[in-house]
Amino acid sequence: MASFEETAGSVNIADNVQSIQEGIKQAARRVGRDPSTIRCVAATKTVSSGALLRAYEAGVRIFGENRLQEAQEKMPAIGIRQGLAWHFIGRMQSRKLKDIVGKFALLHSVESLEQARKIECIAEKFGIQQEILLEVNVAGESSKGGFSCTNMQDALVQIDQLPHVAFRGLMTLPPFSDNPEGARPYFSELRQLRDSFVQQSFSHGRVEELSMGMSHDYQVAIEEGATMVRIGSALFGKRA
Ligand SMILES: *Cc1c(COP(=O)(O)O)cnc(C)c1O
Repeated sequence: MASFEETAGSVNIADNVQSIQEGIKQAARRVGRDPSTIRCVAATKTVSSGALLRAYEAGVRIFGENRLQEAQEKMPAIGIRQGLAWHFIGRMQSRKLKDIVGKFALLHSVESLEQARKIECIAEKFGIQQEILLEVNVAGESSKGGFSCTNMQDALVQIDQLPHVAFRGLMTLPPFSDNPEGARPYFSELRQLRDSFVQQSFSHGRVEELSMGMSHDYQVAIEEGATMVRIGSALFGKRA
């Protein structure tokens, strides 16, 4: 029997999880990639803990939160579960960093050197190493934070000197376009940027992951090399 929430929202999360998994496989196969190298991060903003549990039961293993306060409510409600990881995928305000660092396995959207240095200070105090991705503002939009493609080399060298911060790759949010193909050039550019650093050796950082693609364009992102896609509405239904 369907729960009230499922009936009311006419959203079947288990079906959605299956169709996203199928979509990931198909997109990967079109370009000769191994689908197991692509991870789905469920974008959980506004989604209830009950819906998250259903997603977990259906096989989702990474929850990506945008809002610290929401995460602080949902994390204890979900509790510790086999294989489950929480990522932070939203913009991070300075004053909230002390509550973000160490609580999330991966921070997707580190947007400046200054922010990386603040994370370093907090991680050092906690005696941990925080894994991060660097957000790249590929289109140079003034409304968005992030590194530019041209200052990435310098940023990587500097962040690699921070012992408690470990970069693992790049993330982007391309300019909005209804048409998934509209994002392709930005995804492609991020992949080329990643490829230009893949051979470079760092002390403890690595530039491997590409976090790009959302509900409407994740297949295009995978065709262009995404290793993590961040999917919200296609899993949980339209947000209010
Ligand atoms: C909400 C969100 C997503 C997912 O968006 P959908 O279009 O619902 O899939 C991905 N990334 C970030 C940073 C988000 O805030």
